[in-house]
Amino acid sequence: MKEIKTQIQALRGTKDLLPEEARLWTALEEKARKGFACFGFSEMRTPIIEESSLFVRSIGQGTDIVEKQMYTFLDRGERSISLRPEATASVVRAYLEHGMDKNTGLAKLFYIGPMFRAERPQAGRARQFHQIGVEAIGSYNPNLDAEVIALLVAILDSFNVVGYKIKLNSLGCTKDKNNLSAGLRESLEGKINDFCDDCKVRYDKNVLRVLDCKEERCKNAIRKIFQGTEAYLCPECKTHFDSVRSALDILRIDYQIEPHLVRGLDYYTKTTFEVTHHKLGAQDAIAAGGRYDNLVSDLGGPEKGACGFAIGMERAAMAIHDIPTGKEGIDIFIATIGDEAYRLGFRLVMELRKAGISADIDYEGRSLKAQMRAADKIGARLAALIGGDEIKNHSITVRNMHTKEQSSIPERSFVSEIERMLTK
Ligand SMILES: [Zn+2]
Ligand SMILES: [Zn+2]
Repeated sequence: MKEIKTQIQALRGTKDLLPEEARLWTALEEKARKGFACFGFSEMRTPIIEESSLFVRSIGQGTDIVEKQMYTFLDRGERSISLRPEATASVVRAYLEHGMDKNTGLAKLFYIGPMFRAERPQAGRARQFHQIGVEAIGSYNPNLDAEVIALLVAILDSFNVVGYKIKLNSLGCTKDKNNLSAGLRESLEGKINDFCDDCKVRYDKNVLRVLDCKEERCKNAIRKIFQGTEAYLCPECKTHFDSVRSALDILRIDYQIEPHLVRGLDYYTKTTFEVTHHKLGAQDAIAAGGRYDNLVSDLGGPEKGACGFAIGMERAAMAIHDIPTGKEGIDIFIATIGDEAYRLGFRLVMELRKAGISADIDYEGRSLKAQMRAADKIGARLAALIGGDEIKNHSITVRNMHTKEQSSIPERSFVSEIERMLTK
C-alpha cells in the first residue's frame, strides 16, 4: 500500500499569491515605479535580515513593533538578528554605510519588498506583508513633506484607490516631543486606571504610545483629556507645519488635521500622516509616513532632515476600486499530430520565443481537438497546426483564434510571418 504523506501548508499569517493576484501586484508595482521615476526616486534594495539593534535604536525600545512583533533570533554565531519589520531604518543604515550622505543634495530612494511582524493575523494584517515606500534624505524643507505626500497621492490614484482620506499632524522637534510627553503624562495623571494594561506600561515607559492605542476605551478616554499635539509645537515647528499645509493647499491635496495622530515608531518628528480607507475599518491605514529629522544622526550619521512613507500592499489591494482581471494570454499555440510534427513544433516554439513571441506547445500527448481547446483556454491569439501534410509540403497552417481564418505559410519564413501577423 502506498503511504499517504501529509501536506505541508503555508505558515499562519503568510500567503501565497497565485498567478491572478500576482499579476495584479506586478501591475501595481509597475504603476508605482512609474510614479517614482516621474518624481526622481531611485530604487534601493536592502537585506531582509539586519542586526536587531538597528531596529531597537531606530523604531524605539518601548514600541509594540520592537517589544512584541519582531522576529528575532540568534544566528549560528550567536548574533541577534531580526527580520526587518519595516524598511526606513535599513535604508538609512545603507545610506550611511555607503557614504551617500557625503554627496550633496537630496537622496530620493524607494523600495519594494516584504516586511515581517508577528501580529495576530486578520484581514489586511499578515506576518509577512509587503510595502512600497520612499525615503527622501537630506532636506528640512517643508515642501519636501508636501512632495512626498503628493507622490503618495499620485501612486494611490494610479492604483485606482478611490475615497481614501489623508490625516495629517505634527509632533514637533525633539524638544516639543519631550514637552508633549510631559504634558500628556500630566493630563493622564490619576486617570491612567481607565486605560488598558498596555497603556499603564506605556504611561511609564513611552507615554506617546498611549495616543495610538487601538483599544476603544483608551481612544475614547484620551480624546476627552488630551487636546492634541499642536499646542506643544515651538514657533519653528509651527511654521514648518503651516508651510506643509499651505504647500498641500497649493497642490490641491485634500487632508484633515488629526490632532492625536502619532505613529507607532519613535523616530518621527514634525509632520506625520496616515491614509485610511473605509474598506479597512477605522484602525488600519493603507499608507503612512512622516518626517524623521533625527534618525540619520541617531544611527551615527550627520544631521540630515528626512521624510518618507510606506504603502501596505495587502491593504492597498483591498481598497482598490474595480480590480482589473483577465488573463495575459499568449501569442501562439502550436498544435501537432504525430512524432515528427511534434519535433518540428518543439523547435519552432523555441525559435518564436527567441524572437520575443510568447508561444506554447502541448506536453501531454493530447489529441488535436484537446490541443485546440487548450489553445483557446490559455487565450492564444494564433494557433499553428502541424500534421502529415504540413511536414510533406514544408508549410504550416496558421489559424486566427478570433476570426477562425486559416492560411498556410512556408516553414522557412515561419517566425517572420508570425511576427507580421501579430503586428497587424
Ligand atoms: Zn519644535
Ligand atoms: Zn490602551
